[in-house]
Amino acid sequence: MMSCFEPKSNVEMEPRLPEKTPVDRRNGKPVKANDIPPQGVYLPNNNILAPHMRSPEYVQMSNAAAITLGIMGGRMHRCDCTRCLNLLLTYPEGCRANCAYCGLARHREADRDYADRNFIRVDWPAVPMTDIVDIVAQDPGNSPFHRMCISMITHPRSEDDTFSVLKQWTDKIDPDAIPISILSNPTTMRREDVQKTKDLGADIFTVALDAATPEIFDKTRGKGVQSPHKWSKYWEIMMDARDIFGPQKFGAHIIVGMGETEYEVLNLVQELVDLGGHSHMFCFFPEEGSLMDHLPATPRDQWRRVQLARYLIDYRGVRVDQMSFDDLGRVKSYGISDAELADVIDAGIAFRTSGCPGKFQDDISACDRPYGDSPPSDIASYPFQPSRKDVRKIRRQLDIPVRVE
Ligand code: SF4
Repeated sequence: MMSCFEPKSNVEMEPRLPEKTPVDRRNGKPVKANDIPPQGVYLPNNNILAPHMRSPEYVQMSNAAAITLGIMGGRMHRCDCTRCLNLLLTYPEGCRANCAYCGLARHREADRDYADRNFIRVDWPAVPMTDIVDIVAQDPGNSPFHRMCISMITHPRSEDDTFSVLKQWTDKIDPDAIPISILSNPTTMRREDVQKTKDLGADIFTVALDAATPEIFDKTRGKGVQSPHKWSKYWEIMMDARDIFGPQKFGAHIIVGMGETEYEVLNLVQELVDLGGHSHMFCFFPEEGSLMDHLPATPRDQWRRVQLARYLIDYRGVRVDQMSFDDLGRVKSYGISDAELADVIDAGIAFRTSGCPGKFQDDISACDRPYGDSPPSDIASYPFQPSRKDVRKIRRQLDIPVRVE
């Protein structure tokens, strides 16, 4: 059944405006002026001056990846390891964009050095790329990592350094043993750059679209916050990736809960599936220090409905036009029988972190991003298989009663 309603935007999700950065804090000036040479792993610490580190010699990696790689101590709540080695390019002058939900955004220069900023809830230590490659190259076939991913940022050197990091990796590690994803930043990219990542061994190319509509895109990462991104450029590069990488090998990241309706985001998910791609979902979390840190995290009922519906569209062949929505654009029915829906909910996979696949099965993401969009006390994306107790909680959040056998 097709829904018939006018999608409404949640006008309350308004970012703050960025403030002016003092001249002596701009472009990583303190780090460059002091020019302290880096020594091994740098753990983010806002109380000491960050050393002068830059890609391609240095990259940042998620805490989860650093623990799994064995270069940092610590444990993760209910997870032994992460299956994705997420790498992030790094420079003293940092990302030159100003996305409102992101802890790495340019306006934060005023507050802390780039290598000390938080990104998607967790710290990202900086590590020499050669150390990472040497550890993983010892036994790629038995590595805990099912995938490696290079995240680009907005920086004039982003493309060349992505190529260089990619080459350092593939010189020693067979990309068939550990496939590679690129999380791109289209603003500075050309079609030839997309092709080059493929030629250098990348398997999947995704675009961090993040916003579900052009209006929200503009407001959160375009001219609304003095940031250089354009919706049309992101789509242009995604279409290049579609041509170059082919079906199931491209997609978009989308943050749920920045003011779009459930119908709007699921319509986008359907559009991506119709093009042959995938969507990777994040639950909006008010990142400390970002321009949206005063706003509420996505309500769990909204997030669960979108997770469930997105899973059905992406992996079960259900179409958004088989679902129905209320006049606020919220999912009312999922387009399949109650019994089928109950099976999907109980399987729990729909509520795991979504992303590029690992080695278990197509609908289980290697990129599990432990606690990247919620605290462990109120999990949004499960970085592990939800238990029966977790599924009962999910059903309460969905307001779908537990099935009586
Ligand atoms: S381009 Fe990416 S890293 Fe840079 S501010 Fe935007 S979301 Fe953050």
